[in-house]
Amino acid sequence: ADKIKMQIPLVEMDGDEMTRIMWKMIKDILLTPYIELNTEYYDLGLEYRNETNDQVTVDSALATKKYGVAVKCATITPNAERMKEYTLKEMWKSPNGTIRAILDGTVFRAPIVLNSIKPSVSTWKKPITIARHAYGDVYRDVEMQIPGAGKAEIVFTNEAGKETRTTIHDFKGSGILLGMHNLDDSIESFARACFEYALDIKQDLWFATKDTISKKYDHRFKDIFAEIFEEEYKSKFDENGIEYFYTLIDDAVARVIRSEGGFIWACKNYDGDVMSDMVATAFGSLAMMTSVLVSPEGYYEYEAAHGTVQRHYYKHLKGEETSSNSVATIFAWSGALRKRGELDNQPELIDFANKLEEACLTTIEEGVMTGDLLSLSNFENKRKVNTEEFLHEVRIRLDRLI
Ligand code: NAD
Repeated sequence: ADKIKMQIPLVEMDGDEMTRIMWKMIKDILLTPYIELNTEYYDLGLEYRNETNDQVTVDSALATKKYGVAVKCATITPNAERMKEYTLKEMWKSPNGTIRAILDGTVFRAPIVLNSIKPSVSTWKKPITIARHAYGDVYRDVEMQIPGAGKAEIVFTNEAGKETRTTIHDFKGSGILLGMHNLDDSIESFARACFEYALDIKQDLWFATKDTISKKYDHRFKDIFAEIFEEEYKSKFDENGIEYFYTLIDDAVARVIRSEGGFIWACKNYDGDVMSDMVATAFGSLAMMTSVLVSPEGYYEYEAAHGTVQRHYYKHLKGEETSSNSVATIFAWSGALRKRGELDNQPELIDFANKLEEACLTTIEEGVMTGDLLSLSNFENKRKVNTEEFLHEVRIRLDRLI
């Protein structure tokens, strides 16, 4: 059969370690036999980032703005150990952070749900997508240790030099203090990204804060969401039969646990940090979480939620067999190809993406899986396969579907 052609390129961001090994295998075994891959390639592997003084990361983000869709492999965020291991010129920043700053995006993370792997929460039937606000609050705070008695105040000085002040606390003894902020612009783009994504995947959107206690700070989040929803999205939500639902964070937690899933849960920065790990763990495994960065302008960057699987890479380098799970990385590719198909009106790309995902799920549901899923699956005759064998098993099922 003829290979599927792509009209507009996808931005391809290669990465590091075991995920870089899987990246090439996925392309060779599952993509290029079926598609004439049209990608603009950026090597975000740490060596090339170092060689280009990290310019390649910036260029890949700018290319995403040009073409609209990117697919990213997991990358190393350097620390002191990596500085030595790769003899780096500088401790380059997290590529995800750099890309997120340029695209001004919100990250949506959703588990890949399987029949043979039951979530820890028995009522959950459908995935819960966490949308985490990625700016401000406690992540950009200023903190102070208070040695003894004294008065703590918040002071805002406007451009004309006029001060507004409020007492935080009259300390009688030692204690601690924290100042934090957020920006209307950032909250607005977070809200729009959430509403757009809900329309895109046609699911309800939930949002929660602690506005009863935090009457100005959290309330501002609530108000901005409500205003943007009323003015820009209410009628579109009605047309699509989906809802926007706001409640208090403690009520949201109780409702999420009792729910069937199948919605997007927008979280403030800290709530999203905590809740995404809870949701991922309760659904099974980090290796089965998809992740997509969506900008308010509608640019999409697809990736796996996990890291570079460093331990497996060192085994691989020693020539030992590995059993790394490539599902989240395959879903990053299928997500990106599907989006390309939707934007460019190429139904054959959408169809391929759907079949590729189905083939992955069927493989695992038939009991063929990588080591990380072995203890989670309740399937009777499970068979553990290595990294490459898993991809060949997916290919057998993909061929059946095609
Ligand atoms: P990791 O996600 O690579 O691994 C965490 C644990 O989960 C390990 O025990 C690992 O074996 C297991 N695991 C994760 N993905 C797996 C898979 N696909 N198959 C089988 N097991 C899997 O995170 P880490 O070990 O904390 O970090 C390793 C490197 O990854 C670091 O250099 C870090 O900077 C980078 N990292 C990158 C991203 C990203 O690019 N999005 C995210 C997190 C970490």
